[in-house]
Amino acid sequence: MLEGIENLSIMSFEISPEQGELLKTVDRACQKIRPIEDRCYLEGRHNEEAISILKEANLLGLPISVKYGAGQGADLLTYLLAMERIGKEGCSLATFLSAHTSIGQKIIQEWGTEEQRERYLPLTTTGEKIMAFGLTEPDAGSDPASMKTSFHEDGDNFILNGSKCWVSNADIAGVITTYARDKNDGRISAFIVDKEESPFTTQEQKHKMGLVTSDTGEIFFDNCAVPRRNLLGPRGKGLSVALSTLMNGRLSVAARCAGVIEDCINECAEYSKQRVTFGKPLAKQQLIQRHIAKMSTHLRASKLMTYEAAVLKMLAYEEGSTTLRDEADKLISQAKYFATNASFDAANRAVQIFGANGYSFENRVARHLCDSRVTMILEGANEILELKIATSVLGKEYSAFS
Ligand SMILES: Cc1cc2nc3c(=O)[nH]c(=O)nc-3n(C[C@H](O)[C@H](O)[C@H](O)COP(=O)(O)OP(=O)(O)OC[C@H]3O[C@@H](n4cnc5c(N)ncnc54)[C@H](O)[C@@H]3O)c2cc1C
Repeated sequence: MLEGIENLSIMSFEISPEQGELLKTVDRACQKIRPIEDRCYLEGRHNEEAISILKEANLLGLPISVKYGAGQGADLLTYLLAMERIGKEGCSLATFLSAHTSIGQKIIQEWGTEEQRERYLPLTTTGEKIMAFGLTEPDAGSDPASMKTSFHEDGDNFILNGSKCWVSNADIAGVITTYARDKNDGRISAFIVDKEESPFTTQEQKHKMGLVTSDTGEIFFDNCAVPRRNLLGPRGKGLSVALSTLMNGRLSVAARCAGVIEDCINECAEYSKQRVTFGKPLAKQQLIQRHIAKMSTHLRASKLMTYEAAVLKMLAYEEGSTTLRDEADKLISQAKYFATNASFDAANRAVQIFGANGYSFENRVARHLCDSRVTMILEGANEILELKIATSVLGKEYSAFS
């Protein structure tokens, strides 16, 4: 047994009164957003109104320390419970918020200097500026070490050249973190890029199969001058910054997927009790019950795997233990891998239960099917996670990456 987890009594998932209050706030915001999200989805446009509702509810800086602007100081587990609730509204809304918080602000909180935190966290927790995480490039997705975006020094600035693609919030972001290779020694560094002082251009990526209400785009750096003070983390350690960030992101993806499964179950329970075939409600048909049973079991497993990974990650940081951190990384990969597959499966089953009505974007189950598909690709495609999980079981000497 690993030190610190031999006592299973630490796995208490009772909701605290504070968490309960927060979840009520999240629920109220979600209820306001739902009809707008419905409309935006059918009109095929980004849901800008959601930002002001989330801002009003103080949810734009949920996992950030209260020291900074509208930061709420939610711990990881509490943040994930909120993400789970938001996931019920769909992966589109959750992707926006996660790109702004988990893989946005959290990087600055975890890797930034105090000066960088004070400069950027108040601005972004209050929603004055939205954040994005720009790592992926046209020729470098699963293998970010092969990125081509470069930088060189020029006086007080780093000059960035290159492009990023498939970046959530690209068009609406005022502050992004991005990653580039040193033209001299080839090492990758991370940067905070404030669009106002270091202009870059963007191009919306249209015709997506899902995530319709979430903005996705390309980012172009054309001699983009970034002040030296905006180097994020140690020089040459950009990949460590990016990969640790993706761990936050993966848990957030797992949590939103649990929300998707729960919404599919709720929608199916309601629909199948009303819809009558062969003289009785669909809910009484045994093969329909099989779908419900599978979804319900997958929901429980997705939630527990996510919570367990979160608890272990918090413990690993508290104790500064690399052994626990490695174990937490494995659990995070497993939670994301399982919950993403389970959410797509649940959405697929939900569409089947709804029949033709499930084939219309007027019903959320159809949107869940198209939206949840991407969770198997982004923030560590599931094949990459399979390799990570297997390596952690077999030993590093069997890593498929070496
Ligand atoms: C809607 C959307 C939003 C996104 N948001 C962001 C964002 O905010 N920021 C950002 O930086 N990126 C973002 N991404 C990009 C996403 O992170 C990448 O798509 C992902 O990392 C996979 O990279 P790729 O698409 O280039 O696939 P590739 O790396 O080309 O891989 C293609 C397929 O091959 C598999 N594969 C690759 N290598 C191996 C291997 N060794 N063994 C087995 N299988 C392998 C992969 O798992 C994948 O299924 C987003 C993508 C989408 C679609």
